[in-house]
Parts: sequence; C-alpha cells; structure tokens
Amino acid sequence: MNPFQHGEVFVTDDGAETDLDLGHYERFMDMNLTQLSNFTTGSVYQSVINEERNGNYLGSTIQIIPHITDEIKRRIWLLARQTRPDVEIVEIGGTVGDIESQPFIETIRQFRIEVGRANSIFIHVVKIDYIYPSDEAKTKPIQQSVALLRGLGIQPDFLIVRCKKQIEKSLITKIALFCSVKPERIIPAPNTEYIYDIPYNLEKAGLTREVLKFFELKPRRNTACQPIFIKNKTNKSIYLKIALVGKYLDHPDAYISVVEAIKHALDQAKVEGEIVAVDSDESGIENKLKETDAIIVPGGFGIRGIEGKIKAVRAARENKIPFLGLCLGLQVAVIEFARNICKLNNANSTEFAPKTKYPVIEFLPEQRRIEQKGGTMRLGKYPARLSGLVKKLYGRTIISERHRHRYEVNPKYHQILIKNGLIFSGLSPNRRLVEFIELPQQIHPYFVATQAHPEFKSRPNRAHPLFAGLIATALTRKEAK
Ligand code: GLN
Repeated sequence: MNPFQHGEVFVTDDGAETDLDLGHYERFMDMNLTQLSNFTTGSVYQSVINEERNGNYLGSTIQIIPHITDEIKRRIWLLARQTRPDVEIVEIGGTVGDIESQPFIETIRQFRIEVGRANSIFIHVVKIDYIYPSDEAKTKPIQQSVALLRGLGIQPDFLIVRCKKQIEKSLITKIALFCSVKPERIIPAPNTEYIYDIPYNLEKAGLTREVLKFFELKPRRNTACQPIFIKNKTNKSIYLKIALVGKYLDHPDAYISVVEAIKHALDQAKVEGEIVAVDSDESGIENKLKETDAIIVPGGFGIRGIEGKIKAVRAARENKIPFLGLCLGLQVAVIEFARNICKLNNANSTEFAPKTKYPVIEFLPEQRRIEQKGGTMRLGKYPARLSGLVKKLYGRTIISERHRHRYEVNPKYHQILIKNGLIFSGLSPNRRLVEFIELPQQIHPYFVATQAHPEFKSRPNRAHPLFAGLIATALTRKEAK
C-alpha cells in the first residue's frame, strides 16, 4: 500500500494491515481492534474466487448479487458473532456513486431487510459545500447525495453533516425538508482543533440520545456525555520543535499515528510544541536538524531518502539531540552506527544495497516461511524482553508491540555492534531478533530505536512511554539551556 495513495497503513495486534481510520477508532474508543474490523473489496473478491475454485458454488454463475453481497454480509455477521457487541457499526468508505462501493451499499440495503427496520439505522455522512468568495454554506450537494442514495434503495435515517463551523438552524430545516430526515437526527460535525473533540461534539449534538430513541432502548446506566480527551493546560514557557524525518511528507496522513503519538506526549509533558517536517531527500539536512529539540525517524520502504535518514541519525547522535527511531528508523540507526562507529564502510541493508559488503540489516531465512501473510512481512504483535532505559520507560520487562517489516538486524553483526557500544535493550524471546536498541545514557541522553511501531498503541491521555521519554528528555535538555 503506497502511503501517497493510502496514507498510513495501520496495523492491528493480529497483523491486519488496515485503513488509517481504524487507528483513529482505536484511539477514540481506547480498544484494540482486530482484522475482523476491516476488509477491502479485493479480499471479498478473493474469498469468492477461492470458494468458486474450491467448487463450493457447484459451478453456478458467480454474480455480484448474491455472491459478493453474501460474502460481505458473512463478514459483518462474523464480527458480531465473535465479539457479541450491543451495536455493530459498519462503515462503508468512499462516496455514494462510486462504482467500487456499489456492492457494499447494495449489501446493507439487503441487510436491513434481514435484520428488520427497527434493528438497523442508516447514517449518511455528508458535507456542506461553501461558495468560494463569500463562504456561503450550500446544501445542494447534500440533497444530491441523498437523492443518489435513495436511487440505490436507501433512505438515510440520520445525517452527520461535516462543516467548517456550526450550521444555522435554518439550514438544518432546509436539509430536513429536502432529505426527509427529522431535524433532530441531523447532527452537525464542525471542524475541531483536536480530532478527539469530534466524538464529544457528536454526543453533545444528541447522536446517542437520538439513536437510543430510534431503537427504543434505554441506556443501561446514566451515561452523561464525557469528552474522551481533555487537553492539559501547558504550564511551561518552553516550545519544542520535533523533527519528523520522512519522505512522504507531502501526504499529511502518511505518518498520522506518529503525529498523534507526538501530540499525546507533548500533552502529557504539558508543553507546547510543533512537528517540523524534514524531507530526507533535502540537502543540508544536518543544519536544519541542529535547530530542533528532538528527532524522529519513522518507518518507510525503499531506497529513496535513506542516506538523508542516516545523516539525520548521525546529527542526533553527535549533537546529543534526543532521538527515536521507528522500524526503518532502527535500521538506519544501526547502519549509521556500523558505518561511523564500527568502521564498517558502506554498511547497509540488503533492501537498499543487495550486494553490500556489510549487510548489517538483512532478510532472515525464517521470514520466508511466513510467505502467505503480507508476503513475507513480520506483521502484528510480537513480544520482547527489555533491559536498560527502555525497560525503565515501559516499567516492565516483557512487552509487546506491533510490527510491519521484512528486514532485521543481521545476527552475524550482533557481536560487533555490541562490542562497539550499541546496547540491544530489547530482544525477541529466542534472542535472535533485535527489537530495541539504545546508547548508554552517559554517552547520549536519549538515543532509542525500536524495530516495532509503538506509535500504533499511543492513546490520548496515555502517551506511549517511548514518545513520552523522548519529549521529557527534550524538555529537560531545553530547560537546562
Ligand atoms: N523497509 C523496512 C523493512 O521492510 C522497514 C519497514 C518499516 O519501517 N515499516 O524491514
């Protein structure tokens, strides 16, 4: 999945590579979701083709209706049967009218007939349009989208209306009239400064109250609506600049969980700050980085930008700027250490230089065995045994983090790296895979990297320890200046 097209690929504990929205839902609900909570059109077609090849349709003609729609329904039921929720929320991505989403819309039309009108709600997310020079709010696109949906056999019961600012009552009345939706079921969703305000705003606008009314349900307990995140007041006069050294920086969603994790950590430290996007292809990257208070090298694939990232690690190490490497960030940190400290000239990863003399990052033979799953990628949660600074940060010895990568620190170089002073502070239970590295704190105040993607588990009000540690050290360092 190309980050320029899809934004970040979010990974669940059980190793599903999903849409980044799932990450927001985990953060909103403070729940770990599974592969049952996300599926793509491709995987639906794949299942149907496999069934057909296995002869399970007894040679009948395969059609969108019923074969594809039945497979989508099966998956909706599967989640319900396995997790037994009170309510299952099914989101269909895309825009009404897309060819791709038609089988999904047809499926939920059928679904309502199966479960009954009283047991299902159709909520359509629409958006107010604004005329350019005057910023006047227009509802026509909403009316047209609803009309299009009706043509597909679905009359929405609720509308969630994305808008720049609160909408006037007269506009709600107009939407209600044209779209045949009761005004109290038209829920405005204005832009917010913090994404975590969105669920709270929906609550305040009466979404839950109206949904319960629709189902004729009484809340089990008095659930006064609560914000899921209250931003701490910043009590420090200091302002931190956190460099994010990446190559998908034009795409704001490509590093969304990393960005959220940084925000959680800034909030926890009660300090203001900003994320400075540093393009790993840029020349003179070292100078730009010297101005920053912390450096993060996030995950990535492919050779472009690698040398820039190695320079960024060097700048962090030599200038003692707090550093956190994530996945590829660990790999480039090991390459930098091998080249500049162990003097293994031109050491590299076989991903970027297959014939390198010193393959300190290598594709391990055991990876070949996980062929079916994401094409040889190590995906999902894996445990690690910790020591050193990271053990202190996590406050535990055994932890688990989510992974999504092919390459590993080459076991043939473990000893050389250790002898030269690199600490392997987290290892897989069999000690073969390097999960965390760090430098001794006498040498560097915070030089930590992990082969995992800890950003996926950071939550508002509960910053991830590695991000919290990075920001806390950056803050202390800046206060001491
Ligand atoms: N490209 C590297 C690998 O496949 C790192 C992947 C990542 O950062 N997610 O191992």
